[in-house]
Amino acid sequence: MSVAEIIVDVPTMQTNRPFEYLIPEALTDVVVPGMRVEVPFGRGKRKIQGFVMQVKAESGFQGKLKPISRVIDLKPVLSQEMLDLSAWLADRTYSFQISCLQTMLPSVMRAKYKQFVIPLVSDNSEVNNLLNGQPTFEITNQIDDETVKLINRLRKNKQVDIQYVVQNQALQVKRQAVTTDLNVIQLHEAKSQLRPNAKAQIKLLDFLADNLQSLPVEFNVLEKEYGISRAAIKTAEKNNLVKVIEVTKLRKPVGINPEQTTKLALTDEQQVAVDQISEAITAEKPETFLIEGVTGSGKTEVYLQTIEKALQQDKTALMLVPEISLTPQMVNRVVGRFGDQVAVLHSGLSNGERYDEWTRIENHDVKVVVGARSAVFAPLDKIGLIIIDEEHEASYKQDDNPRYHARDVAQWRAKVNKCPVVLGSATPSLESRARAEKGVYKLIRMKKRINNQTLPKVHIVDMRDAENSAVKGDFSPALTSALQETLDRHEQAIVLLNRRGYSSFMMCRECGFVLKCPNCDVSLTYHKDLGKMKCHYCGHEEPVPNICPNCHSKKIGFYGTGTQNIEQQLNDLFPQARVLRMDVDTTRRKGAHAKILQQFGQHKADILLGTQMIAKGLDFPDVTLVGVINADTTLSLADFRASERTFQLLTQVSGRAGRAEKTGHVVIQTFNPDHYAIKDAAKQDYETFFKQEMYLRHQSNYTPYYFTTLISVANQDEGKTLKQSYWLKKQLQTALSKNAILLGPSPTMISRKQNKYYYQIIVKYKHEPQLHQRLLEILNETQADVKSGFNIAIDNEPQHID
Ligand code: ADP
Ligand code: ZN
Ligand code: ZN
Repeated sequence: MSVAEIIVDVPTMQTNRPFEYLIPEALTDVVVPGMRVEVPFGRGKRKIQGFVMQVKAESGFQGKLKPISRVIDLKPVLSQEMLDLSAWLADRTYSFQISCLQTMLPSVMRAKYKQFVIPLVSDNSEVNNLLNGQPTFEITNQIDDETVKLINRLRKNKQVDIQYVVQNQALQVKRQAVTTDLNVIQLHEAKSQLRPNAKAQIKLLDFLADNLQSLPVEFNVLEKEYGISRAAIKTAEKNNLVKVIEVTKLRKPVGINPEQTTKLALTDEQQVAVDQISEAITAEKPETFLIEGVTGSGKTEVYLQTIEKALQQDKTALMLVPEISLTPQMVNRVVGRFGDQVAVLHSGLSNGERYDEWTRIENHDVKVVVGARSAVFAPLDKIGLIIIDEEHEASYKQDDNPRYHARDVAQWRAKVNKCPVVLGSATPSLESRARAEKGVYKLIRMKKRINNQTLPKVHIVDMRDAENSAVKGDFSPALTSALQETLDRHEQAIVLLNRRGYSSFMMCRECGFVLKCPNCDVSLTYHKDLGKMKCHYCGHEEPVPNICPNCHSKKIGFYGTGTQNIEQQLNDLFPQARVLRMDVDTTRRKGAHAKILQQFGQHKADILLGTQMIAKGLDFPDVTLVGVINADTTLSLADFRASERTFQLLTQVSGRAGRAEKTGHVVIQTFNPDHYAIKDAAKQDYETFFKQEMYLRHQSNYTPYYFTTLISVANQDEGKTLKQSYWLKKQLQTALSKNAILLGPSPTMISRKQNKYYYQIIVKYKHEPQLHQRLLEILNETQADVKSGFNIAIDNEPQHID
């Protein structure tokens, strides 16, 4: 009897290793790596899930092995590459391997689901016996090993397939469709017998005659695209001209319907980039390229043509973007070039949709995958190229366990697949740019905009000036007149309100009382649509007070500027202008982002007002003005990346202006006009910013000069949190050399969230060979305390410290 090594779904340090189980005779050849099985665990009758990591002939274990209880999947859900990756990832992110394995699965397989056997052939007696007259066969916990074995054999012979269905949700949308048994001649004959005023019937028959190869065709396609009604179809059905059947259609993500595009003739700079990357694709070199290209330099075309190169060599390509819903234009460009060969994975997909895309990738139906962070686990094989667009974006790092960075995972996969990684940005992260400086990455600079379009002219407005501080609202005279001129020319403007997702909060002007969440240490924010004050962290809500709960003064009011407020000011200043607002409130519905951007692109509005989400990747030729209301918000963050984030945001948003023939203007309002991050962003001068910021990072011993590990401790009891933090610090001290820097423990910026207190310790180091092992041991030692509410989280190279 053979033996399987299994990672069990018990997320503790003690169980964070493979366990051996016997494979029952009947399941020999069925159980393979990457499959999930159910196994007995511990004493008692408890059965838990596990991933098969390896199958071997015999065990080195002396005692008696327990057998696998049953297989959960009838086909592997993870490839060998992913199994290997999970081990590396767990180690790197201080997480349990089981968490990593779960993270790699599409969410449908983590949810409650059912599994069905779907027949692929109709004339096989074994298949028909199994189905027993039904269209599908449901795989339940009860099926015996013999049946499992049979299904497995049928699947391998491509006589059946297995599909997952999320419970309470149809896996595949069933749709009504039309087909016909008649051939072209019979259709024409039938048509000639119709009354001439039976217009709809004639139209339908004509359509069928022209499209016989592409039948069946769905009702809604006929209706929407050809104006043939359901009634007409039903009539034709009655007259035996057509047949109505149900088709299962794989859902396609909504809102993606771009025009087909073809290769552009490359500029010299683009050509150099494409050549270098193509060479690495052909030579199968796992190198990392950093494209530092100013906004509008045409990075996308470089991505598209290198993807094409990979496809020509019969390979696949993976492209990551920060957040799909924020970058619909980028997705459209990829789909526009490669059409059906592209799968798009993003958070807006339902479980079912995500599963469909996943299946298309696994079945090799697609060659290109575009998606946000988690798409880095897409089950592509023979990857020829991995692209990470806007590589500096913080969203590439996952905030929860496993705290992985997509860039690291991409580089790991690139090594295994022997392919290059391309990082692209107008404002690369300091880490990546520093690696390019050292020659670890190959630097490709694109300094010119397409058509030698000049960079936008930037005007920094000092809000401390008398003239500006005198204005009542948030618009300086300079920005107001720039907007007016843009409107007069019938061009478009983008207005950025720089804020961290907070809308206005309530403060008393008499006593300074701020309305806070009773559970968390943050101010409640006003949600206009609910008419309530709400906590950003725990969801607590309460009515808007009209007197101060502290001093009973009536002078309690809103503070801080929200987008709604700015929108009102815009309406007051420019009653004629049409304003579109894009923020968390207006984009809650699925597809809302894409719709707003589409409207703006069709010139249905003059001003697009929004938060950070409008800063990235937008390419609208008629936008000639970008206004930034408050450049300083990100500067004031208590984070060593504050300057970098500010520089990135301002450079990116400025880059939205003047992308076509017309010159762009940018107006930046700030209280820190002399800050280098703002001045360099105004010049779109990444290199100068990089040098200055590197100098400061060097001075303060931060990334990329030092590695950083952030360890946070949380507990319901503040005293205990502190005690544990100091204990932790002592543990670390024993493992670190004198060269390492240990900061803290200190309370996090929001020190209480959901009734837990948070303290953190920061370790900065250059070379500490013992640290990794010691941290793993600490995780192990503190396991027993987890149940009592003691939590340690380790973040390797944190994106933000707060
Ligand atoms: P980036 O991502 O570097 O900011 P884009 O890739 O969005 O820039 O390109 C800017 C604009 O230039 C786009 O409208 C794009 O279609 C156009 N463009 C890119 N490459 C070429 C080219 N070789 N010839 C003509 N137009 C191009
Ligand atoms: Zn008060
Ligand atoms: Zn709260």
